[in-house]
Amino acid sequence: MQTEDYSLPVLKAPSYDVVIVGGGVSGSIAAIAAARLGSNVLLIEEHGFLGGTLTSMGVGPMMSFHNPAGRQVVRGIADELIQRLVRKGASPGHIPDTTSYCSTVTPFDSEALKIELETMLDEADGSVLYHTQLAAVQTDGKRIREVIVCNKAGLTAIPAHTYIDATGDADLAARSGVPFFYGREADSAIQPMTMNLKLANVDTAAIRQYATNHPDDFLWHGGVDVGLERLKSSPRLSLAGFLHAWKAAQERGEIDVPRDQVLFFETAEPGTVIVNTSRITGLAPTDPFQLSQAERIGRQQCMQIFSFLRQHAVGFEKAIRMDTAAKVGVRESRHIRGLHVLTAEEVLGQHDFDDVIARGGYPIDIHSSDDVETRTQHLKPDDIYQIPLRCLLSEQMENLVVVGRCISATHEASAAFRVTPIAMAIGHAGGILAALAHDEKVPARDVAHESVQQILLRQGAQLSTG
Ligand SMILES: Cc1cc2nc3c(=O)[nH]c(=O)nc-3n(C[C@H](O)[C@H](O)[C@H](O)COP(=O)(O)OP(=O)(O)OC[C@H]3O[C@@H](n4cnc5c(N)ncnc54)[C@H](O)[C@@H]3O)c2cc1C
Repeated sequence: MQTEDYSLPVLKAPSYDVVIVGGGVSGSIAAIAAARLGSNVLLIEEHGFLGGTLTSMGVGPMMSFHNPAGRQVVRGIADELIQRLVRKGASPGHIPDTTSYCSTVTPFDSEALKIELETMLDEADGSVLYHTQLAAVQTDGKRIREVIVCNKAGLTAIPAHTYIDATGDADLAARSGVPFFYGREADSAIQPMTMNLKLANVDTAAIRQYATNHPDDFLWHGGVDVGLERLKSSPRLSLAGFLHAWKAAQERGEIDVPRDQVLFFETAEPGTVIVNTSRITGLAPTDPFQLSQAERIGRQQCMQIFSFLRQHAVGFEKAIRMDTAAKVGVRESRHIRGLHVLTAEEVLGQHDFDDVIARGGYPIDIHSSDDVETRTQHLKPDDIYQIPLRCLLSEQMENLVVVGRCISATHEASAAFRVTPIAMAIGHAGGILAALAHDEKVPARDVAHESVQQILLRQGAQLSTG
């Protein structure tokens, strides 16, 4: 599409210390962190609730706060959120992953999550502006002067000292001139999108029994024995399988989802599951027309999946369809090219960074854009990788901090840290960085990483293996 210059009426909002665009988990935790340090914070979100992928795209459970050996690597505000949900009966906490893909998963009640994030932001005196989308960015040299947002009031310019891009798609960074790239280096292919489907009235006891008797019908990443052992003890179910019936249905032409398994996760509510099985390839989530097409394909695939499960999957005979997600799930889109581009070698080699601000223990998990498979590069049991502060910053915009899945990293490296616990840990650091930049009246890029690390540690985050 071509660009043209228009002169349009724009309202002017008061100035904030920190403006965050995107109220997913990384943006929400960043807003809470900055507000707790006394910044005057505005969190802008296009939906009418917080939580992003976890609430608008129906994703769950969070995985994983732990490394393969079961050592907890994500703490801080992210873990505080879970403990608050546990106290309210809205999460069973960190429990064994019965697929044995990770050591733990963390199911949660998505409605409670929306409210808890708002409560934590309120307690810190942060503000939120819903149903508002980023429309444009005004820059002065290497600084963002204001963002222009669009909502029921029309267009409004919002000035701030420091901005955080938590859109997942790096919308703010891209519009302010920060370079970015898509997906794989060779061909820019990104991970496929998935429309999540939520079902209730699933007989999980029958599924446990069936999986125990037919382990060959499921995938067990950590081995069958580990999987079956966890199946006995974990209070919630997660499984990848029904392999034989699924393949047969594909061969009969009843299913045209390009995927080799049915993947599903029980939520905090027993008997309610998230089916993460649809797969939409070859469409760009940042192209509005292609995104619209993805929504339609995703919903159609979910109809096929629901029908398959009711007819052919033990335990799903009386399942009730609750909904498909409000928005198709986007695993990957833009990655900024920041001061450092994190690589798979650094993730797998557990590279030590002096400016580490977050850690992860989740594998490199790539849903294929070429075929039906999901390729995983598992970590060694004791592995923990680090994410440096430089991946949140760019050469081009000195008062912009980027958090969440779109920070500066390759396709392969981001396939590891893109999951929610690690996205929250990155958001925690980004919020502290933005607040410090405002306090010190310097560009975010000039804040000493040691200052960010000190506050992270004071607030319960873990940055070393100790
Ligand atoms: C299908 C699927 C399954 C997944 N499964 C799991 C899983 O089981 N466990 C797990 O831990 N992780 C999983 N993930 C990954 C994880 O959910 C995300 O990578 C993570 O939540 C990213 O967090 P984020 O805050 O960076 O981005 P998001 O959660 O995408 O948040 C971005 C927010 O910004 C808002 N926004 C975007 N653009 C604009 C704009 N221009 N203006 C205003 N607001 C805007 C969005 O509405 C959203 O709220 C999955 C992802 C997908 C798509």
